[in-house]
Amino acid sequence: MNKYFPVIGMEIHVELKTKSKMFCQCSANYFGKEPNSNTCPVCLGMPGALPVPNKQAVEWTVKIGKALNCSINKRTKFDRKHYYYPDLPKGYQISQYDEPIAVKGHLDITLKGKDNTLTEKRFNITRVHLEEDTGKLTHAGEDTLVDFNRSSVPLVEIVTEPDFENADDVKVFLEELHTIIRTLDVSDADMEKGSMRMEPNISLSIYENKEERMKNLPKYKVEVKNINSFNFAKKAIEYELKRQAEILDKGEIPAQETRGYNEDKGITYSQRSKEEAQDYRYFPEPDIPPMEFTDEFIEKVEKTIPELPASRVKRYLTDYQLKYDDAFILTRDTSLSKYYEKLIAELSKEKELDLKKQNLEQAIANVIVNKRIQTNLSHEEFAQKFVKMFAKVEIDESQLHSALEKAIQENPKAITDYKSGKTNAVMALVGSVMREMRGQADAMDVRKRLEQLIQDQA
Ligand SMILES: [Zn+2]
Repeated sequence: MNKYFPVIGMEIHVELKTKSKMFCQCSANYFGKEPNSNTCPVCLGMPGALPVPNKQAVEWTVKIGKALNCSINKRTKFDRKHYYYPDLPKGYQISQYDEPIAVKGHLDITLKGKDNTLTEKRFNITRVHLEEDTGKLTHAGEDTLVDFNRSSVPLVEIVTEPDFENADDVKVFLEELHTIIRTLDVSDADMEKGSMRMEPNISLSIYENKEERMKNLPKYKVEVKNINSFNFAKKAIEYELKRQAEILDKGEIPAQETRGYNEDKGITYSQRSKEEAQDYRYFPEPDIPPMEFTDEFIEKVEKTIPELPASRVKRYLTDYQLKYDDAFILTRDTSLSKYYEKLIAELSKEKELDLKKQNLEQAIANVIVNKRIQTNLSHEEFAQKFVKMFAKVEIDESQLHSALEKAIQENPKAITDYKSGKTNAVMALVGSVMREMRGQADAMDVRKRLEQLIQDQA
């Protein structure tokens, strides 16, 4: 029996791909630029420089909030979060504290069990807020270099309730969130470039009952910082659960702290004791007035949300009768889904197809998923190849008959082998018939006919 029950929440940071930074005119696309070439007095935190919020970033945060089923706060403001670190020249980060843009949302995730059963599970979103990214430190031997190109790039933070009970669910949730963010077209969410970063916070409870567990959250919490892969998130959580259980077994309580994750060793390590909110001495940003959203504005933003992957999966299952796994694969990328739907429209005009008992939608899905035709072709080229692949063929009976005869005459050894019990020897004959027929015959049927002819000979 389990002694401890995991309590896991997630914080996810997503860099928005706006043209300019959060509070100045510098480009938000800093990747690969010469260090410190993409800065100005505002994002360097010079005294007297005034921040002006990026309207697009605000709209996109509302869009993310709505896509995650949040309610949008009609009044919202920025706050200063104070802490000192060399990548933060102002000594504070402009973030949102008690009036974030979006609150109280949820995301329903489909989980696939070991026996392939599908279940839906809801994970609650606490808040979605907007802030600015910091500069970037690079450690080189004894030196540390700082690059402010990333300083003040718009950053959305998504915080979940401590709803997760295992690392596998976290991984599925993160993958779905990643697909949603990309579908919304508000961020590259490219983890290698650091434009999506994840921080699990993890503790262990003694309460088995979830309601009790949520009411009496553990007295400590360990946060693992800046993870940039779904697999590392899973591994870091699994490592932490084991480490904390060992400490609790000794009758001690794990320290409330922030830890890093060492990818090579697969372990977490202590970085610093975790701050409480009061340590940041939050107060309202005096240089930016609070924002007020009208219903019309919120509705207008909501209308820009395209069909999200989960509803697309459902539509493919009901309208196209696809297998779940195929529907899932085809909906991970909007351009692939659109390509697939265009092919259905194109190919449903074709009458002369022999789809071997599958419906057209499933037949196209199979060809894409099994990479039998490449999807980098134009959809017209794909359709042409598809039509060729599934064309109804009228077999020329006399041609087939002479091909069968010829194969038997030319392969006496294979016939002897077949008759002595090596039944697979017949496949050599099938091969030569198929070559003779240039593929315009059914291999199973050819095999049957050959076997019949050989048996008739005996
Ligand atoms: Zn700037």
